[in-house]
Amino acid sequence: MFWNPRIECMPYDELRELQYRELKTLVNNLYSFNRFYHDRMREAGVSPLDINSLDDVSKLPFMYKQDLRDNYPDRMFTVPRNEVVRYHVSSGTSGKPTLVGYTRGDLEYWTEALARSFTSCGVGPGDVVQVSYGYGLFTGGLGAHYGAEKVGATVLPASTGNTQRQLEMMQDLGVTVIACTPSYLVHLGTAARKMGIDWKRDMKLRKALLGAEPWSESMRNRLQDTMGIRCYDLYGTSEQAGPMFTECECQRGAHVCGDIMLVEILDRDTGEAVEPGNEGEMVVTMLKKEAMPMIRYRMRDLTTLDVDPCECGRTSPRIGRITGRTDDMLIIRGINVFPSQIEYTLMRVPQVGDQWMIYVTREDDLDRMKVQVEIRPEAFSDKVEDMNALRARIEAELKRHLNVAVEVELKAPGELPRFDGKTKRVLDTRVM
Ligand SMILES: [Zn+2]
Repeated sequence: MFWNPRIECMPYDELRELQYRELKTLVNNLYSFNRFYHDRMREAGVSPLDINSLDDVSKLPFMYKQDLRDNYPDRMFTVPRNEVVRYHVSSGTSGKPTLVGYTRGDLEYWTEALARSFTSCGVGPGDVVQVSYGYGLFTGGLGAHYGAEKVGATVLPASTGNTQRQLEMMQDLGVTVIACTPSYLVHLGTAARKMGIDWKRDMKLRKALLGAEPWSESMRNRLQDTMGIRCYDLYGTSEQAGPMFTECECQRGAHVCGDIMLVEILDRDTGEAVEPGNEGEMVVTMLKKEAMPMIRYRMRDLTTLDVDPCECGRTSPRIGRITGRTDDMLIIRGINVFPSQIEYTLMRVPQVGDQWMIYVTREDDLDRMKVQVEIRPEAFSDKVEDMNALRARIEAELKRHLNVAVEVELKAPGELPRFDGKTKRVLDTRVM
């Protein structure tokens, strides 16, 4: 099933030609009519005349999150205020918030992207979609909501919190699809067990669209096996519009709507494009954005791009799982460590539960990393020797994958904090 087969199955060369035409128009307009982009391009010594192929995108200067902060609230908007029909605000981890604005056209292409995505992973009429992302300033709730409505599904705008009621609604209304963070789905699973709900017997759920947090392939396998559902990655950030792209039913990367977004994957050190399939930092150019265009915006997400046609019949390129963020990377005694690597390693140890926390400290000028790990109820034992052996095994696995020594502390089931929204699993208290 395709939502827009003409675009989704367009030969890659034709898509690149389309992207080039869109890019050329965008650069022309911004250079001529927008102070910020005009100045940025002048500083970089580039003008629209230099853009004569899609590869020439590499001549254009980068944009950074800091640009949005510096121009808060709306100095980067390129349309008159009365053409902006919605705002979303992201609070960010440090400093000023960032504001994004949408014209009516922006909301339309955002919903179009989601309609293609939801169709590609088999969500459509007849489905009851529970949206358990936050509704409000965050883009997750409303984004998924309008996408699901567009494809003809019935939407339950549950938002976050009140887990017991969420589970009751899932049962009472026969929810078939949930959109939420991966950690919240884990939390729902645990809470359901406590309420005596047998997930496979009592729930009609068949799919989960998981995003807003990095998660691993081993987490997917675990959720799919224990819940008897299929889990799909949902990707997108407020700078792009919000959540936009899901994996198709093949589950091999999220199909990107190439007519809407141009993706480059760049070597994180040199800024040069890497070969398709190799990991690098994702840089995006939004080809259709009206209120707040984005040219070569540095996402800070590390991923891969696959440009080969997919088994599902789509030719649109696919971004792989986000393996880390260039700015979330922890440097432990000079070695780069990503929290996602730690998750990946832990999830492959069958005795390990679904909760863990990473603590980084500095003592006597030495970095120390400690990981607290919750053990599954059935694997937890009072025998100190058993627990010590398990701890040593997890430490050895982490050391093998990360090349850095990690102290592991085992925790009883239910001992670590739970999160309803975005999980904060890393506490780095080093003074830099
Ligand atoms: Zn596909």
